[in-house]
Amino acid sequence: MATAERTYQNFINGKWVDASAAERRPDQNPADTREVLGEFPRSTVEDVRSAIDAAVAALPEWRRTSGPQRSAILHKAANLLEQRASEVGEALTLEEGKTIAEGVGEVMRGVAILRYYAGEPLRPFGENYQATNPTTFLYTEQVPLGVVGVITPWNFPAAIPIWKLAPCLAYGNVAVFKPAELTPLTAHLIVETLAEAGLPDGVLNMVQGPGSVVGNELATNPKVNGVTFTGSAEVGKQLYRVATDRGARVQLELGGKNPLIVADDASVDQAVELAISGAMRSTGQKCTATSRAIVVGRIADQFTDALVDRAKALKVGPGIDKENYMGPLVSEDARNRVLEYIDIGKREGATVRTGGEQLSGSDYDHGYFVAPTIFDNMKPEMRIAQEEIFGPVIGVIRVDSIEDAIKIANKVDYGLSASLATRDIGRAFEFIRQIEAGIVHVNSETAGAEPHVPFGGMKDSSSYSREQGRAAMEFFTQTKTVYLDMPSG
Ligand code: NAD
Repeated sequence: MATAERTYQNFINGKWVDASAAERRPDQNPADTREVLGEFPRSTVEDVRSAIDAAVAALPEWRRTSGPQRSAILHKAANLLEQRASEVGEALTLEEGKTIAEGVGEVMRGVAILRYYAGEPLRPFGENYQATNPTTFLYTEQVPLGVVGVITPWNFPAAIPIWKLAPCLAYGNVAVFKPAELTPLTAHLIVETLAEAGLPDGVLNMVQGPGSVVGNELATNPKVNGVTFTGSAEVGKQLYRVATDRGARVQLELGGKNPLIVADDASVDQAVELAISGAMRSTGQKCTATSRAIVVGRIADQFTDALVDRAKALKVGPGIDKENYMGPLVSEDARNRVLEYIDIGKREGATVRTGGEQLSGSDYDHGYFVAPTIFDNMKPEMRIAQEEIFGPVIGVIRVDSIEDAIKIANKVDYGLSASLATRDIGRAFEFIRQIEAGIVHVNSETAGAEPHVPFGGMKDSSSYSREQGRAAMEFFTQTKTVYLDMPSG
């Protein structure tokens, strides 16, 4: 386990190396900021350039490895990570704040993703076609994109890096990974595990440090062929412009403002459970978190009262303590941002039914805890109904019909995930048809996502391409069409 004295390094060309700048960033536990988990590099552009050069040098050999060779390495990585699941899950909980069940669960999801992509190099990498000339062998081959910059957020510090790195490597690319500054320890442990599985030097490199320096170099450096980014819309859109301007391929997964529509025929108990779990797990810090409950007609009072009761009963405290349902927000900035949105909501005229404040007292005074917060009478045009809050906050919007509910659900810039609670199959089909979201749930929460199926949003939530499952091949490979003819004469 990491100690306060431990200093960490970058991983470049198969070696752990110091950054060129002496400056370091302490990695604090957001449940108790007196605990420092380690000191991490604040790398410079020079460090990123040497990681990119190592990746460029490693590419020719790596892209020529066979699918079964890459598969074996990813299988081994999955097994090694599984053996370390409690250690990595605990580190994740200590630095990000989510509960230990979620921390270990996320690492195990990483294991499942690695296993999926260990199978991927054994599946077809192209198609063959009939050519006009009967002796021509006409086929396509999916070849690697090349050097890929992998930029990730802090909220899923194990799963997101793995769902980018595993397909990146499986399809024969090399990577320079830039993790979020708030969760460097989980990133360190994951890279350590992948390296131990036998990746050749330079195939996977990691540079820790600020986005404006490390991330920006990945976006602008002409040797980087593609950048896969998950994070905020603000940073993602700017990165997209910069990187596509120089001809790089860019994939964005951004924020969400995900609705749960509760139809008047829904099971109220089930709908409340979907809302609580979707809004409060991971302290609401999921891109797929439920942040709007759009409730139809006569059951609105019953649903909202039950939601408030359930939120009041949630146990909040350090995620490492098994009995807590919800941990702290990830940082002081995150806590302040959430409290600011709660104030905005109050000023806009929504009613706080429970929560709405920072928690204080023994367990809370050294961490960034905010009470689970339910707004009632939220109106669709309010900022709290339009903008991503990224905290334990959900607002209830009352409407008269399912048609209105769907219209309101769609009237935001985002389109990541959406859910409907209903017993009526006709309504379910109509919702599936009309809703503008990349991930659609009926009677399950907005935040569920299986590792082997496409993941991504519509509108401002993504840049059209999808991650995970076979869909990842679209971003990480390019198509080569081959006409192979017999020599004549
Ligand atoms: P962020 O945009 O602040 O940071 C994301 C990453 O980008 C970090 O590694 C950061 O250091 C880096 N970065 C910052 N400035 C940069 C720059 N100028 N150039 C290049 N890189 C830069 O986001 P965050 O606060 O870490 O994460 C929260 C956000 O991520 C939320 O909006 C959430 O909805 C979103 N998210 C989306 C998904 C999804 O799949 N759609 C999943 C998880 C999180």
